[in-house]
Amino acid sequence: MSHHSDMHQNALVLFSGGQDSATCLAHALARYARVETIGFDYGQRHRVELAQRLVVLRELRARFPAWAARLGEDHVLDLAVLGQVSDTALTRDTAIAMQASGLPNTFVPGRNLLFLTLAAALAYRRGHSVIVTGVCETDFSGYPDCRDDTMKALQVALSLGMDRRFLIDTPLMWLDKAATWQLAHALGQAADPHGGGPALTALIAEHTHTCYLGERRQRHPWGWGCGQCPACELRASGWARWPQRPEPD
Ligand code: ZN
Repeated sequence: MSHHSDMHQNALVLFSGGQDSATCLAHALARYARVETIGFDYGQRHRVELAQRLVVLRELRARFPAWAARLGEDHVLDLAVLGQVSDTALTRDTAIAMQASGLPNTFVPGRNLLFLTLAAALAYRRGHSVIVTGVCETDFSGYPDCRDDTMKALQVALSLGMDRRFLIDTPLMWLDKAATWQLAHALGQAADPHGGGPALTALIAEHTHTCYLGERRQRHPWGWGCGQCPACELRASGWARWPQRPEPD
């Protein structure tokens, strides 16, 4: 093992309960010796994701015992303060739409900067040097705080500001949503050659939550959601473009 991997053994995963962060969690469990998770309660309309993240953790532990052995504590931070500095469709009951700026009105300015800074503070205290996050520039890059340059700048700022060498690991940065399904399949299969791939993608489809409206009454091949909001549309189109998607029963 190289010095590099000796140094970066412990990871904290930003885990919201959605498809992307669940795939990041699988990536971390495949790669790092010790993994913990962090989530944020900021009064999001799709609060159901906070419940679903616990279901995903439980199901992952049950289906993948080798990963269960590496998966440690889950942390949820109260970020109600976000509601005081933003007035967006993520926290208020208004329609989700594009704004004149070209950003959707779900945009909370700098939200990921805040998430990652808090994650780094927790990682410091818990002895993790890697922070894993599912940010992505490929499919929908309207969020400037998800860009690769932002992550690299933040990695430097956090490392300097806390005098600790942090690595921000972004496994989805250059993947589209179809490739994200494929990555989950590959990670599951590597963890368990006897059906781990289909098991992990089925687990993600059934239990993760992406829909901005918090809708979980309608089941689609790709999971639960309203099917109409931008998050559902992105998830559905990724599934449709994933060549290995299972046929409906
Ligand atoms: Zn939706």
